[in-house]
Amino acid sequence: MIEVIFLGVGAAIPMRNGTNAAYLVRAGNENILIDCGPAILQQLDAVGISPAQITHVFFTHRHGDHVLGYPMLMLWYELSEDPKLQAPTLIASPQTFDALDALMAVSYGTVEGVAESAPRISVPQESIGRTQIHPNIMLTTAPMAHSDFAPSLGLRIETRNQLGKHVVAFTGDTGPNDNIALLGRDAELLVHEATYSATLNPEYADGAYGHSTAQIAGRNARTCGAQRLALVHIDAIYEGREHALIEEAQREFDGHVFVPVAGLSITLGDA
Ligand SMILES: [Zn+2]
Ligand SMILES: [Zn+2]
Repeated sequence: MIEVIFLGVGAAIPMRNGTNAAYLVRAGNENILIDCGPAILQQLDAVGISPAQITHVFFTHRHGDHVLGYPMLMLWYELSEDPKLQAPTLIASPQTFDALDALMAVSYGTVEGVAESAPRISVPQESIGRTQIHPNIMLTTAPMAHSDFAPSLGLRIETRNQLGKHVVAFTGDTGPNDNIALLGRDAELLVHEATYSATLNPEYADGAYGHSTAQIAGRNARTCGAQRLALVHIDAIYEGREHALIEEAQREFDGHVFVPVAGLSITLGDA
């Protein structure tokens, strides 16, 4: 069984009572956290997941809404009394790892113990990366089109054999780019950023500031042959108008389109 839990779906400045975008993918005994914004400990607690259960953390890029919770998550492991506790494997590009180390250095200094012992998998920033984290779980990463300061990676997770054949893909923060079609091909669930609305803000129709619209997300879901499209990282200016983004994507894509609420859990295969 593969489960995707939406821990938060907000943009950099989230909506009232919202939190930044982060997701947890549960596949067999593996729990893969995707991004780690400032509220990550509360986000995990809200869905009844302990940091002790996380086996992997993937960081899309170094913008604060995606990494500022990293020192706090590591502090949780540092302060844990459990001698058997193992820190999760951290997965990021070299540039993002540099930022994570800098964040830790200014937050808590050089830490020893669990946080420092966390295994690392460095994935390429400029090319496609393939990383097998489990005999039945393959990760594919690909550069997105977001920010020169904070180069971003999208992620495809594929499972097989005893876990069932499933595909879920995450764009992370990005404007339009060809790698989305590669990551999202035949995905049961495409989690696509839709920071803006082309309907409500036509000036952003081609994407803006390294971000996409719901229209772009819908087009990409169609190109990918995805089954379901989750619109995330929605700018707070659209609070209460999420239906406009859903309708905008639906004009491009026949599959199921939704804006998840924090805490929503989706089981793949249960379309
Ligand atoms: Zn962001
Ligand atoms: Zn960003």
